[in-house]
Amino acid sequence: MKKLLSNTSVKTVGLANLGCKANQYDGTYMGALMERHGFRLVDFKELADLYLINTCTVTDKADGDSRNLIRRAHRRNPEAPIVVTGCYAQTQSQEVAELPGVALVLGNTFKDSLVDLLQKALRQKEGTAPLMEVEDIFKQKELEAFGLSSYTQNARAYVKIQDGCNQFCSFCIIPFARGRNRSIDIKRVLEELRELASAGFEEAILTGIHLGTYGQDLSPKKNLADLLKAIEEAKPIHRVRISSVDPEEITEEIVELLAASQIFCPHLHIPVQSGDDKILKLMRRRYETAEFLELCINLVERIPRLCLGTDVMVGFPYEDEASFERTYALLKQAPLHYFHVFPYSPKRGTPAAKMLAHVSAADKKNRAAQLRQLSESKRLDYLDSFVGKKVEIVLERSVQGSPSQWLGTSENYLPVFLKDFRGQSRQKVLCEITHRQGERLVAYS
Ligand code: SF4
Repeated sequence: MKKLLSNTSVKTVGLANLGCKANQYDGTYMGALMERHGFRLVDFKELADLYLINTCTVTDKADGDSRNLIRRAHRRNPEAPIVVTGCYAQTQSQEVAELPGVALVLGNTFKDSLVDLLQKALRQKEGTAPLMEVEDIFKQKELEAFGLSSYTQNARAYVKIQDGCNQFCSFCIIPFARGRNRSIDIKRVLEELRELASAGFEEAILTGIHLGTYGQDLSPKKNLADLLKAIEEAKPIHRVRISSVDPEEITEEIVELLAASQIFCPHLHIPVQSGDDKILKLMRRRYETAEFLELCINLVERIPRLCLGTDVMVGFPYEDEASFERTYALLKQAPLHYFHVFPYSPKRGTPAAKMLAHVSAADKKNRAAQLRQLSESKRLDYLDSFVGKKVEIVLERSVQGSPSQWLGTSENYLPVFLKDFRGQSRQKVLCEITHRQGERLVAYS
């Protein structure tokens, strides 16, 4: 303990980040904050003077994973105080405080005050209860832009432009962990993108919890189209990728803008969750399957080279064989290029967890397997359609032991293996696809 308070010795911190891109963004920022205050980040698996665990609570399994990380940290170094933050800490703070080695439970709205509150926790008398800094998340009205350019190790940088959600889908705990919809104003987003460009990034990924409601909390009110238009006009960085946006939030204005864009990647991820209107109602989703299908067809027709992905859940309560067949049929018919498939798992504290008519584990497994197979065949068809074509990739990492072989991602989300090229991470490279090798495309520049 004493060593951690002294300013002389370099202290090490083992950081673990769980969950979505928005939570990863927060975690990267907190890691940098610790480095700015004299800590050295070490791999979470190593012995450290302190552990910082940025948890997730999207499923009960995620809670379990968070608890396991806390126990592992304590076993690794029983002397090391543990700081637990993130969505599990925000929603189950008392449960977290009772776990071994926890010195500070930090709610999602206190991440920016990590270092001060850590000092406060470390000054507490040995053996006293952990310091709890968790407030009612729904009180939070503002969203701080952390600013990331000098921290992230990624080749493509996430920018969190929005947090929270006002929708309360019946299966989702996120609004209780992240609070109400809050946005970073357009001017600040442009500044952050410029900072990333001047730090050498060619690609930024706009991320948040419910991106489609961006700006609705700002005064004067804005929306996602306003932000995209401002980015298109200012062109603060070479290319920008948009992460998940719900179907009903892709407006005609956004389609028009993306169809003519010189900066936005032709890649959209639009969660559909189910292909059965009855199930969508039970999920409290705000669109119908016919609208989703029409949107997909419209997007692929109008945005050149578009890669279109979705999220789908199988095994939601009341999903019988006929419902599943409707989901399968919709995903087969829709011009989609990949899906992320999630077997439904009840999350305590959500309305859906109280629903009856649960689907058996075997049916969930079988249905998920069928959809993953369908996704795989669509994905490979999409990859094959780019053999012989040119794409622009951002280099992410060199293949082990070979500085002239690189892995990168194209503007339309293709995983590319670039051969015989001497380059560096984050560099953009125009290359020609010669063939596919498994799940990757092979290219030469
Ligand atoms: S839109 Fe629905 S699924 Fe997405 S974060 Fe909000 S409540 Fe959760």
